[in-house]
Amino acid sequence: MFKRFMTRLRGYAERFPDVRKGGNHQLYTVSDACLSAFGVFFTQSPSFLAYQREMRVRQGRDNAQSLFGVSAIPCDNQIRNLLDPVAPSHVGGLYWETFADLQAQGLLDDHHGFAQQWLCALDGVQYFSSDAIHCDHCTRRLKGDKTRYTHSVIAPVLVAPGHDYVISLEPEFITPQDGADKQDSEQAAMRRWLEQHTCRFAPGSLTVLTDDLHSHQPACAWLREHHCHFIMVCLPESHPFLYEQVAELTKLKLIREIVATHWNGRHRERWTYRFVNDVLLRDSADAITVNWCELIIVREDTQAQVYHNTFITDHRLTDQSVAPIVASGRARWKTENENHNTLKNHGYHLEHNFGHGQQHLAALLLSLNLLAFLLHTVLTLTDAAYQQVRHALGARRTFFDDIRTLTRYLYFESWAALLAFMSHGLELDRPP
Ligand SMILES: [Zn+2]
Repeated sequence: MFKRFMTRLRGYAERFPDVRKGGNHQLYTVSDACLSAFGVFFTQSPSFLAYQREMRVRQGRDNAQSLFGVSAIPCDNQIRNLLDPVAPSHVGGLYWETFADLQAQGLLDDHHGFAQQWLCALDGVQYFSSDAIHCDHCTRRLKGDKTRYTHSVIAPVLVAPGHDYVISLEPEFITPQDGADKQDSEQAAMRRWLEQHTCRFAPGSLTVLTDDLHSHQPACAWLREHHCHFIMVCLPESHPFLYEQVAELTKLKLIREIVATHWNGRHRERWTYRFVNDVLLRDSADAITVNWCELIIVREDTQAQVYHNTFITDHRLTDQSVAPIVASGRARWKTENENHNTLKNHGYHLEHNFGHGQQHLAALLLSLNLLAFLLHTVLTLTDAAYQQVRHALGARRTFFDDIRTLTRYLYFESWAALLAFMSHGLELDRPP
């Protein structure tokens, strides 16, 4: 899968627009710039390219070439100049091809939630912020007499209860839109993503998971019209009318309550689900109805409340369905841990290495970073040697520290050769 993914990425990179006018600056290709940047994100090593340039001088060959297909490594400045004009949509197809591959191999057969639904978490995350550095695609906010420049993105992932990996899908950038006279918003970006990509899933098979920001009439009504389901966090502060109904129904004892106990390995917990179907989402004549539920988890020994959240959904809530529906809604938290963390902590390297650019650089690098994250997930699912070595080394950090050091000093003719070297050194059994 590593090879196939890299071949595809190279194919996309070779089709990137090259806005140079010709002449004597053509030593490096746009494709080399893309694959070089990807190498930095994949190895999680900001110094990867510097080391490989040194190796090329010493040995006449290097790992940027053998692992990532870079013919000649451009300097960081050249990478910035070459990639800045390339919109991130130029690599969008790779997410979907990878998703199709994983499906075709049956690797996502159990990566579902309630009722075999695809669970797609759609949340915005800010990945750049500055008072000084900016580009045409920054979101601008006045803060006192200063302007704050930021970049944010909806980075959708497919999640599943009980699985600690997420599948990254094509991102949608929150950025001033052509022809729009006001700034973009997370809600508008989410709508654009759904308009473009819902068709990639069988009708009725997609459940959208969001935080409270989206759990309002326009988004819910739109999703329903487009045959998408939803499970969204629904906080009392932002839904006063809905919670008036819940309070009223509670008094009338019309809220269904079921209690279950769970042993979590250390102590016993009491899980209380409360739910009701068909409450009005807002106080208006055209209000749609939604189904509301709540989960409260209390430790039995201390009576301490360890979890509480509330959701609205269009899935019908019953004694049987409420637990799996809530579990599906809670699976969104993986995006906080896995996806957003990767974006935020890695965002630093991205600015540090290549700068911000004037056009698309920040967004394209973000997308390459997400693709590197996706390839790590793909390897976790498909590459037995990768799984063994990662498992043997324990912390994720150790694995990437080792990759950085090994690729600095030694030449590997392929990714498989690098993993075989690690596997052999760790005296792991060869995978079948
Ligand atoms: Zn910018």
